[in-house]
Amino acid sequence: MSGDARRAQLAANLERVRERVAAACAAAGRAVEEVRVIAVTKHFPASDVRILAELGLRDVGENRDQEAAPKAAECRDLDLTWHFVGQLQTNKARSVVRYADVVHSVDRARLVTELGRRVRAAGRTLTCLVQVNLDPDSEKGVIGPRGGADPADVPALAEAVEAEEGLTLGGVMAVAPREGDPRAAFDQLKAVADDLRARYPHATTISAGMSGDLEAAVERGTTHLRIGAALLGDRRLIVG
Ligand SMILES: *Cc1c(COP(=O)(O)O)cnc(C)c1O
Repeated sequence: MSGDARRAQLAANLERVRERVAAACAAAGRAVEEVRVIAVTKHFPASDVRILAELGLRDVGENRDQEAAPKAAECRDLDLTWHFVGQLQTNKARSVVRYADVVHSVDRARLVTELGRRVRAAGRTLTCLVQVNLDPDSEKGVIGPRGGADPADVPALAEAVEAEEGLTLGGVMAVAPREGDPRAAFDQLKAVADDLRARYPHATTISAGMSGDLEAAVERGTTHLRIGAALLGDRRLIVG
């Protein structure tokens, strides 16, 4: 596909997403300015990030360091906000803090310590969201396939983030379970977020909602949508 054709496609996708967000905000009695769209560009090239930036999207999400690090380097001149949204191995913290502005997937104390140590060494700062596991089927104390801390462990993790120089607590993140009504999960996340904000008033971010459930997330109070397929297209169609 030519660059022009790809640009037209991304522009149309973005317009459709913006319409969906606007409709969901109107239905929920919320202002569109309350909800930010993060373009999750995993599996798609840096050229797409560049087009989306030109179309006005300033927030980019990635879920694997091996892919994100070179892409962020290629797009350094764009001055975008980079969100790391995937499960993060402790040994990747050193790389991630070099380009990420926000890590959405903080779900264990050891990761907090390592991010703090590495971000200070890099001379940078980082906003951390505590990822909450909302899957009722996962066993307590076991991090499920989609990651996230048990809701009961969120306050201690938040405190650990705030205690770490160079890290700031931004709020919470979750992925809705595959089964069931996502609104129930997003309500649970909102309750966790409200508790956290009572103690840390600056922790206002609720990262929830993807291509398939953005309306439910907007209805239930999200502040940051992580949108992949609806903006970029079907990842399964990409070869390589
Ligand atoms: C891929 C991904 C998304 C985007 O999902 P879509 O369904 O393509 O919108 C959101 N959040 C996380 C954590 C992801 O890994």
